[in-house]
Amino acid sequence: MAGFLKSSVRSVATRLAGRFGPHRWPSAEPRLWVLMYHRILPATDPRYAAEEPGMVIQPASLQMHIRELRKHFVLMSLSNWVAGRIAGNTLPPKACVITFDDGWLDNYEYAFPILQAEQAPATVFVVAEKVGTDFQFWPTIVAHLLVSGVYAPLQNTEPFGGVLAELSNVRQPTINREFIAEVIRRLKCYSDQAIFAGLETIQWRQLAGPIQPALMDWDQLRRLHGSGLVDVGSHTCSHQRLDQALTTTALEHEIVVSRQIIEGHIQAPANLFCYPNGDYSAGALALVEKTYQAAVTTRRGIASAGQPLHQLVRLGLHEEVSNTPSKFNARLSSWM
Ligand SMILES: [Zn+2]
Repeated sequence: MAGFLKSSVRSVATRLAGRFGPHRWPSAEPRLWVLMYHRILPATDPRYAAEEPGMVIQPASLQMHIRELRKHFVLMSLSNWVAGRIAGNTLPPKACVITFDDGWLDNYEYAFPILQAEQAPATVFVVAEKVGTDFQFWPTIVAHLLVSGVYAPLQNTEPFGGVLAELSNVRQPTINREFIAEVIRRLKCYSDQAIFAGLETIQWRQLAGPIQPALMDWDQLRRLHGSGLVDVGSHTCSHQRLDQALTTTALEHEIVVSRQIIEGHIQAPANLFCYPNGDYSAGALALVEKTYQAAVTTRRGIASAGQPLHQLVRLGLHEEVSNTPSKFNARLSSWM
């Protein structure tokens, strides 16, 4: 009964938020909805099952989103909105922009055809020194190892051993999507360096079969940009979190050099920045303010006219919270 009550309360709240949220109100001052996506994969793709649920959405859902957005907003590119605000032009009362973090190869395979079909503009934030390399984010590596049955080497190596011990007192638990997501969630307490060092120790590349490339290459990014629909922004050089104690040289490299690399390959200004994991120190913020026209965080919200351009809030989307128009509209309220 309690479970039933809880789920009906949730579904009523979803309907109310979707029907009466701020995206439904007229707005006297310009407001900006910045949508944040990561991976776009159909459930039939093997990469879907190995991914954390919070990171992925199906192509059909993305297409439904774009069609819903056009009912409430002026859908435009982030660079145009920012340029308009800097120039002091009149902005739409309710604008919406689409962003993709990390530069995943699946964005090219599955999101790009939808953006073209719907003529929807977007921004892709890429990790400049990893574009076109065999780089893998550590959550993908850990998920790949677990799905491939590589367990004992992880169990015997930190920081994985401690996390696996917390999660299971049986020798080998059932490896499903929920288990993998929980392992990754707990590993996020450790630094990227500690996790990559652990993966090097076990020589992960030799333990399981090859992983499909994670990221787009420069040719693919040039094709995205060449469509006239997609801007390429910076997500640093190496995806280091910028709240750590980084030297001035390291900060300059991640923030300033990443822009130069992108502009060299795309031959267009890269005016926009995205903080890895949404984290930044005061020093990082100051340098981003000096180098870019605007930057996005991972803090949830709808940007108002007065919001600092280098700390723009966003709304994160993934399949479970947005695979029906009703759930997607609830998300747009930013209330849930
Ligand atoms: Zn990222």
